[in-house]
Amino acid sequence: MGAVLAAFLVGYLLKPAPSAQHEQGHSTEQQAPEKKQVWTCSMHPQIKLPKKGLCPICNMDLIPLETDDSSMPTSIRQLTVSENARQLMDIETAPVERKFVTATLRMVGKVDYDETNLASITAWVPGRLDRLFVDYTGVPVKKGDHLVSLYSPDLLSAQEELIQALKGVQDVQNSESALMRDITQSTVEAARDRLRLWGLTDEQVAAIEKSGKVEDHVTIYAPTGGIVIHKNAFEGEYVKTGTKIYTIADLSQVWVYLDAYESDLQWLRYGQQVEFTTIAYPGQVFKGTIAFIDPVLNDKTRTIKIRVNVPNSDGQLKPKMFVKATVQSQVAGGGRIMDADLAGQWVCPMHPEIIKAESGKCDICQMPLVQTESLGYASDDPSHLEKPLVIPVTAALVTGTRAIVYVEVPD
Ligand SMILES: [Zn+2]
Ligand SMILES: [Zn+2]
Repeated sequence: MGAVLAAFLVGYLLKPAPSAQHEQGHSTEQQAPEKKQVWTCSMHPQIKLPKKGLCPICNMDLIPLETDDSSMPTSIRQLTVSENARQLMDIETAPVERKFVTATLRMVGKVDYDETNLASITAWVPGRLDRLFVDYTGVPVKKGDHLVSLYSPDLLSAQEELIQALKGVQDVQNSESALMRDITQSTVEAARDRLRLWGLTDEQVAAIEKSGKVEDHVTIYAPTGGIVIHKNAFEGEYVKTGTKIYTIADLSQVWVYLDAYESDLQWLRYGQQVEFTTIAYPGQVFKGTIAFIDPVLNDKTRTIKIRVNVPNSDGQLKPKMFVKATVQSQVAGGGRIMDADLAGQWVCPMHPEIIKAESGKCDICQMPLVQTESLGYASDDPSHLEKPLVIPVTAALVTGTRAIVYVEVPD
């Protein structure tokens, strides 16, 4: 008894069963009685020739097509092969099942600085860099460490103005005119404000007022801890307001940029967990969270940048290190991703670590939280929990523009 194989497009296969049955019933009506031996190609079932030979398309040997009425080819999409031919063609069949599957995606990438943790040290006042306390890049600094000693004539005159203004206040202390007292007092305030704007601390301003001595150098302190990654100026150089002197990177959290192929994108989601290894620490597995999926594809590499936030409190991960990453995506109904931690939850679109059970605002950026369902995750909705229809990966014949799956029609 021969087996009937029917070719379906994968998309067609995924349609609900009733329409597939209808298609088969309809095809059967098209049976045409034909008794002579017909030869066909196992790759091109539309080829039906009256004698043995080679397929005009692919030059493969033609195989005999069974001609008894019960197993006649019933449509152009169906192919009937004898048991003998089936063995020659080495056809294997496997059951199509509904089950949860996990897509394992492998990507490579690089460690980078967390851009949100970069600080620029700039001159707040024009002057000359008399001393740079950090001589070279790579030096770790703590918050509040002194970085620069700047000689500034402008600062000098601003301090002198403050001292003069304070003297003025004393001079008019006993004056009858309230207006005079107000004016001198506001001059003092303005002079103080200017010094603060130029980076002097309240303590420094108070010290100048107390001593009456002017300070011709201003010290610039580190606003944050981290590693000095750029030194943009040199000792003795004159700088303007806003000139960048150092860039400090806080490496307690780093970013990892991964390259994902277009075909992987359907299984990647904002907020997913990523595991990765490095060459520097063999066997050690690092973990991070997908925080950004580039909306634009890189035209040269045909890949999409995936940004992963990775905690790095011990500083093991260093920018530019290569990483090999894996993402395990559990595929649920409708191509959604099942993640037990995120199902039915709310998450900040900027901070994937902020996850809440109810709608609300992000603790970090105050942005309204979004439902994980809107990001392509499965929720508790029964339709999301339906198991997807799964075929063996070898079953799909990819023809270039579409994939074809042959389905054995039961006897
Ligand atoms: Zn052929
Ligand atoms: Zn946020």
